[in-house]
Amino acid sequence: MTDLCINIKKLETFTKSYVSVVRLTMEDGSQGWGQMSTYCADITAQIFHRQVAKHALGHIFNEFTDLENLILEREHKYPGSYVLRAIAGLDTALWDWLGKKNGLPVTALIGGSPGMLPAYGSSMKRDITPKEEADRLKKLRDTQGFKAFKFRIGSECGRGKDEWEGRTNEIIKVLPRVLGDDVVKLVDANSCYSADQAIEIGKALEDNDITHFEEPCPYWLPDETKKVTNALKIDVTGGEQDCDFRIWKDMIDRKIVDIVQPDVMYMGGLSRALLVADLANKANITCTPHAANLSLVTMCTMHFLNAIPNAGKYLELSIEGEDYYPWQRDLFLGDPFKVTDGNVEITDKPGWGVEFNPSWLEKAEYSCSEV
Ligand SMILES: [Mg+2]
Repeated sequence: MTDLCINIKKLETFTKSYVSVVRLTMEDGSQGWGQMSTYCADITAQIFHRQVAKHALGHIFNEFTDLENLILEREHKYPGSYVLRAIAGLDTALWDWLGKKNGLPVTALIGGSPGMLPAYGSSMKRDITPKEEADRLKKLRDTQGFKAFKFRIGSECGRGKDEWEGRTNEIIKVLPRVLGDDVVKLVDANSCYSADQAIEIGKALEDNDITHFEEPCPYWLPDETKKVTNALKIDVTGGEQDCDFRIWKDMIDRKIVDIVQPDVMYMGGLSRALLVADLANKANITCTPHAANLSLVTMCTMHFLNAIPNAGKYLELSIEGEDYYPWQRDLFLGDPFKVTDGNVEITDKPGWGVEFNPSWLEKAEYSCSEV
């Protein structure tokens, strides 16, 4: 692999309200492309230029963790999500640059190899009836070959309330019946329930052959989640929101969940997500990362999941399109998330193996920080 000892010269951003793309240029003119975490990306891009770029520019890059920790130390009065969402743009651009420098896909830089990766179809919708959800997942099973799906129960941070009365009880019976025994069934409660409620619902999930219960309780109440994990036989999962290693260490040490789900972008990039996977691996805990839309987060997650020894069986792949995520349209050239027989492909193209769409970039707001 190329020796790393090179100055970061220029950091440019192309920003719309939901997505901000980063172009990194090194002192020798070589480039890499990355992306910050989605949503409020216009705010994140400001943080990128004011609190991230200034520490990275002119810095001799030789190691990811050292550079990223330096930025976090310089910005130690701002712990938490936004600075990390912005650092994700730098980290993912550096990984793309490194892959291109070496002519290798990112996954090959971290121990994986290109190829097909099984995905589960991930529904984001709650405003859909159990019957409609069953029909659309069945159609995806038959046309795209998905062998696993996740659907939503309860309501998001819903203080115990269902999206509408009876929806959860109905959907956890209808979907397994329609999808059949050969399809793996997962659910996500998005922090809805108390521990007592979640245990009761979890028993019904077990009875209906559902194997994965995500974020049963408010994620900021690990002791509640722990009660659910202890009480149920199925996998209780979580961690998508978490980006602080004190929280990860506690979650893994105390086995708060059976499966950890770091989000590459919320974590601050691939480098820190790899550290979470490694902590989990040392504790024999599976890692099934969170990736909820078809921006760069899912491509990074493909390279990540493919390389780690404790990977869960399936990539999370959003099934939502224009009506739910109009802002992800035309972000890339081609169709990097095409599903064939339930699998997506990590190609042997260098870096992340994707090209941001020049016409998308052209319409975005441009900013530049330079040495
Ligand atoms: Mg989730």
